[in-house]
Amino acid sequence: MTETTGLGLPKGILACLFDLDGVITKTAVVHAAAWKRTFDAFLRQRDGTDFRQFDDITDYDEYVDGRPRADGVRTFLASRGIELPEGEPDDPPDAPTVHGLGNRKNGLVLELIREGGVEVYEGTMRYVAAVRAHGLRTAVVSSSANCREVLRSVGAEHLFDVRVDGIVAADRGLPGKPRPDTFLAAARDLGVERQEAAVFEDALAGMDAGRAGHFGYVVGVDRVGQADALYAHGADRVVRDLAELLERP
Ligand SMILES: [Mg+2]
Repeated sequence: MTETTGLGLPKGILACLFDLDGVITKTAVVHAAAWKRTFDAFLRQRDGTDFRQFDDITDYDEYVDGRPRADGVRTFLASRGIELPEGEPDDPPDAPTVHGLGNRKNGLVLELIREGGVEVYEGTMRYVAAVRAHGLRTAVVSSSANCREVLRSVGAEHLFDVRVDGIVAADRGLPGKPRPDTFLAAARDLGVERQEAAVFEDALAGMDAGRAGHFGYVVGVDRVGQADALYAHGADRVVRDLAELLERP
């Protein structure tokens, strides 16, 4: 028997589906920095020194955050009216292709992760422990291909019954966020219906996925002061830290 009292969730929720970057780990800032270095170098080369820089808050939130890597490249470039050839998945990082730019960004992310290490949000760790103690099941649902390494590096792999990440999604041919397919796959793997699952996301694309999937509850995690946008994209509730959900109303 599961009991959602004290977890800030409506009755009937049996499983929690957590995004990784920005919800479990403080890696969103690392991703934003890597995207900025990648796009600014590309735009400078293309447009010269008075190029319009990638904004690591607004451009990142709107076009890149939460999406699979190649979708992030395409979506941001499209916002500037730029279209690049797809190239091949193993294109070198200096290739002027969608995959080349994606690979440049991924190399920078891995470098930054190794340099700085990954930190977890303590409030999320407490919340995950609490929902598991109440008998709810847990999954991590991330667009990242580095999800497993990141979880392992912070000793949190065992806290999630199911992992649907960028590698699993590619294997199964699942489209990424803002489509709901990866969250739906995680719910299915956990043996629950969509109405019995709660989604925890910090990205606008993740909110869209939560809404499109008709899940039981969608929690927006506001790390950057975009609560209004999270609500506009379908959040049922917005918190700054998941530990807020453990507080008595
Ligand atoms: Mg995220």
